Amino acid sequence: MNFEQIEALKELLSTSKRIAIIPHKNPDGDAIGSTLALWHYLTKKGHRADVLAPNDFPKFLKWMPGADQIINFERNNSETKKRITEAELIFTLDFNDFGRVGQMSESLQNATAKFVMVDHHQEPSDYATVMYSDVSMSSTCEMVYNLISYLGDLDLIDKDIANCLYTGIMTDTGSFKFKATTSKTHRIIADLMDKGAENTEIHHRIYDTNSPSRLHLLGCALKNMVILKEFNTAYITLSQEELDRYNYEKGDTEGFVNYGLTLEGIRFAVIFIENREEGIFKISFRSVGEFSVNDFARKHFDGGGHHNAAGGKSERNLEETISYFTSLLPQYKTALTQ
Ligand code: 5GP
Ligand code: MN
Repeated sequence: MNFEQIEALKELLSTSKRIAIIPHKNPDGDAIGSTLALWHYLTKKGHRADVLAPNDFPKFLKWMPGADQIINFERNNSETKKRITEAELIFTLDFNDFGRVGQMSESLQNATAKFVMVDHHQEPSDYATVMYSDVSMSSTCEMVYNLISYLGDLDLIDKDIANCLYTGIMTDTGSFKFKATTSKTHRIIADLMDKGAENTEIHHRIYDTNSPSRLHLLGCALKNMVILKEFNTAYITLSQEELDRYNYEKGDTEGFVNYGLTLEGIRFAVIFIENREEGIFKISFRSVGEFSVNDFARKHFDGGGHHNAAGGKSERNLEETISYFTSLLPQYKTALTQ
């Protein structure tokens, strides 16, 4: 954040405001962690803030302090719209385009509030009065920590805020191993621990919550994996029928896509997950090295994200989706194999 942006934000927050804080649809640890951390902080500063989520979030995030206060647009449609209309300031966190909030995008487009964007994805849209966008950041939670620091309020980070920020940094960095993890990230994590973040408990609450059916679903996913050695690519499919068979619950497929990359030599891993209700396959893309899944998802699957982790969707059926996907690979052969 540069000096002008910090001063503009200070000015916006200099009097008590009605504030809406929005994560993206299907919020993950970073989206929920950053919105709740900011909510605790702004509430402490005397603002009237709400976290308004486009839809529900996984069970393994429900323990987070303040999670029970999140208003869900899918469940409380009119209440959410009302709060967006009433807001004087809207923070959008962990996304940078209204296309990422599903049905809620119309309300955001019609809002009269000023927008503040805090986000680390590529190619931000131009809707924010204050735009803190940095693709080099490990996570939006790291950016919320910086934002609080720029506003001179690190002393206000208590155990609840520390737990929220720790969670988002941990989940978005694959437990501090992805490339965007810097020495600065580790210094922030150390400070969050000094401020009360319960590191061991957080790892346990997020990662040790398997149900037997989730492990069976993982087994099914791994059995379905197809390896295209010629393109150093591995992909997994999960049909709605398979999800139903293993009593799929939101969040159950989190992390499945990463198994492809644990195969020696594989540089591109993909998972296609059917969502019959929405009539789509939701797709996750992961890569190692130079191959940009952000570009790939943006160009071919109406998506985007980061250089090595992105998402998208397909409205075709499974067979057509896979044949379209595999038909694209030859043009990327050099990038995937050189
Ligand atoms: P995941 O595969 O874990 O759902 O998402 C990986 C990354 O891509 C995340 O940073 C997420 O925000 C982003 N992402 C996932 N789906 C989409 C999408 O449909 N459009 C865009 N622009 N980004 C996405
Ligand atoms: Mn993130």
